[in-house]
Amino acid sequence: MAGWRYRIAVMVLGGAVTLLCLMGSARSAGAVPPGIQWTDLERKFEGVFVLSASRESRKVALTFDDVPDPRFTGQVLDVLKKKHVTATFFAMGTRSMKHPDLLRRIKREGHDVGNHSYSHPDFSKLPVEDVKRQITRAETVIAGIIGYKPKLVRPPYGEIMPEQLEWAKTQGYTVVNWDVDSADWRQLTENEVFRNVTKSVRPGSVILMHAGGGEGQSLAGTVKALPRIIDWLREHDYEPVSLSELLGLPVKRDNSLKQMLHLPEGAIE
Ligand SMILES: [Zn+2]
Repeated sequence: MAGWRYRIAVMVLGGAVTLLCLMGSARSAGAVPPGIQWTDLERKFEGVFVLSASRESRKVALTFDDVPDPRFTGQVLDVLKKKHVTATFFAMGTRSMKHPDLLRRIKREGHDVGNHSYSHPDFSKLPVEDVKRQITRAETVIAGIIGYKPKLVRPPYGEIMPEQLEWAKTQGYTVVNWDVDSADWRQLTENEVFRNVTKSVRPGSVILMHAGGGEGQSLAGTVKALPRIIDWLREHDYEPVSLSELLGLPVKRDNSLKQMLHLPEGAIE
């Protein structure tokens, strides 16, 4: 009898553990429906949803979200200028309207500008119509300041749904998340930001950092870690480049057939 009881207890416990594991994986999948991971979306939406580039070249891309922010964006630009590095900045519509000169400086200094939505909502909680409005509204603001519509889009928090990607595809956008997270938005120290990037970077990596923050949020660790990260990358034969160079894409979106069909540069002349 005791044996049965023991077996039943083990079965119940096993069931509970399985359930907990399922709940855990559903949570870690984030916005996308349970069972779909970013890597699955990258395969399904090849060339439209991107986490990293080819692992065959040692090029990597430093990307900075939530700009322009007068507290940190200028400091990041100063470091990049001193180190002769070209990077990518994902701009919000609301912040671009407030600080257009800073957005113009990003472009003038040779960096790529991408679209990071108008007001930074979580796309996974929005109907597709609202997502369209967030992207096109930001695009109108950004294009009015720097003169082009960015082809590159990064959804806030990296959250995006399959049907939203379907729409992005028809409009010629490329949605770029990342495979290396500096987690710098947690207000980490210089050493923590440096370690987070250098421990997981690989050839072709897209590195997530921030050059803008919320009220009272400090990115001092990012600004201090950045020159060390650039030096480390070069010492290890990595070449930091813009996203458009890493992915072989134009930085500007247009509605040409070439872009709509997601053909590589030079495919149609
Ligand atoms: Zn953001």
